[in-house]
Amino acid sequence: MSARERGPIPLHTHCKVCGKSIPWGKDYCSNECREKELKAQKKARRTSRLYLLFFVVMFIFILVISFLSPR
Ligand SMILES: [Zn+2]
Repeated sequence: MSARERGPIPLHTHCKVCGKSIPWGKDYCSNECREKELKAQKKARRTSRLYLLFFVVMFIFILVISFLSPR
């Protein structure tokens, strides 16, 4: 251990899912937590894609409406 790393707590980080302290360089404490996070990310990505689609459809809809209606 180098002089910079001294202290009561060794260099560590926390599990992104459950918050347990784990060795530095790791993201999750277990495969269970890793899979949980991956699933949540996939779901979040799908949800954000749906939102994007919704806004694009709304934008086109408004564009078409304003194009069709006389001023
Ligand atoms: Zn965990």
